[in-house]
Amino acid sequence: MSKMETLDYDDWEEVREVGHQMIDDAITYLKNLRQEAPWRAMTEEDKQFFSARVPLEGQSPSQVYKLYETRIFPYIMGNPHPRFWAWYMGSSSMMGAFADFLTSITNSNAGAGNHVGQFIEDQVIRWMNEIVGYPANSSGLIVSGGSMANFVGLTVARQVHAGFDIRKDGLRSSRKQMTVYASTEVHSCNQKALELLGIGNAHLRKIPVKKDYTLNIFELQKAIEYDRADDYLPICIIGSAGTVNTGAVDDLEAIANICKKEGLWFHLDGAIGAIAMISDLVKPLLQGIEHSDSVALDLHKWLHIPFEAGCVLVRNRQQHRDAFRLTPEYLEQSVRGLASGTNWYSEYGLQLSRRLKALKVWMCIQEQGIHKLGRLIDQNVRQALYLKQLIIENPYLELMAPVGLDIVCFRFYTDVNSPSLNALNKELLIQLHERGVAIPSYTTLNGHYCIRVAIANHRSRNEDFDYFIQKTVEIGLELVKSIS
Ligand SMILES: *Cc1c(COP(=O)(O)O)cnc(C)c1O
Repeated sequence: MSKMETLDYDDWEEVREVGHQMIDDAITYLKNLRQEAPWRAMTEEDKQFFSARVPLEGQSPSQVYKLYETRIFPYIMGNPHPRFWAWYMGSSSMMGAFADFLTSITNSNAGAGNHVGQFIEDQVIRWMNEIVGYPANSSGLIVSGGSMANFVGLTVARQVHAGFDIRKDGLRSSRKQMTVYASTEVHSCNQKALELLGIGNAHLRKIPVKKDYTLNIFELQKAIEYDRADDYLPICIIGSAGTVNTGAVDDLEAIANICKKEGLWFHLDGAIGAIAMISDLVKPLLQGIEHSDSVALDLHKWLHIPFEAGCVLVRNRQQHRDAFRLTPEYLEQSVRGLASGTNWYSEYGLQLSRRLKALKVWMCIQEQGIHKLGRLIDQNVRQALYLKQLIIENPYLELMAPVGLDIVCFRFYTDVNSPSLNALNKELLIQLHERGVAIPSYTTLNGHYCIRVAIANHRSRNEDFDYFIQKTVEIGLELVKSIS
């Protein structure tokens, strides 16, 4: 008889030691993070290392960890760093990482079944309902992030407003063409969702924005009127609570009123701003959020849950479930035992097997409390205003858009023509990354290339912005010298 094999260890002591070492190293990493460069380019040799073929035989845990330490860790993306402000990311936390580890050790699947995972996710969803001001029995789902949260919300919108049984009949060209409305600043994942939902990006009406980058309500109303006159079927308006370019928050109350008047679904992309309902500074800007029909929140952004963690809430539980529920025999719910329970999360979204992401949300909130998490959002908003002030006061810098929430867009400005200014700022951004100064990102507003700083970071301090601005101007002037 052959010897039975397993992925467990004959001798657990080595792996215990490696595990302790990993935790020690992780704590040291977070403790000393500020002294490190936020990002490093990989060497050619290290890139080459990753072209090796699939290993046929294994190695010890400590050898595998050694590979991580030498080949991987030096080149991580760097988003926990206090001067990482690119795209829009949170900066994670120790407890979130611990929770992720525990979720993996117990291999928790939150798709179905009667176990504590269900209670954790139920509670987290109720907390989120409480935070955004939804009814306590509204439904929701923890998902991978904002993209999936928007996808789920828009799927329910389509289901409810198609006017026929779209799950049964599918899309048919003989029906009226559905249309969806959002501002030109709406996040691209909403367009992707509408493409996947068969509505087509030509039927996402991108409505112009006002000077402050919020949806122009007057233009919105006109577009809906024209579409109705042309025999289209308007189904949904997507509001943005914090646009990705400039952090603009649409007039949610006005959108809610139009949706009510026109009988449309109000979906809110709150990937950036919705969780800021816990912030005293931001909450007043989000007036009207409670009138939406569905809202996407991103908990791996301003709540600093480690990737991935997003959340969608749907006001009407029945509508949410109707859009996704499908119960084959092998998923029939029994009266008692592990296969009992009445609220399986696989009935509220696309995934059947699902990691219990809710645990890290639950543990982080238990550890920090909502007040502190809200104060951290306030802190970032104040830092954005601080940075704005540094920019305004500096003769070499130009503020490029109104500061929305925690997002600041600016550029290095000097007396050269506009195309060279774009090129200069592009090079400046690259050098900020390569020299390990800070990691802002970029966008283009009205044809102008901008350096964009999105401060969803609980480790940033005002001195980080002083240093960043000092270095930006220094490098900018060097570049001017080198081209003239
Ligand atoms: C980040 C973002 C998304 C997408 O969320 P992911 O978590 O990256 O999938 C959607 N909308 C807005 C406004 C965002 O900032």
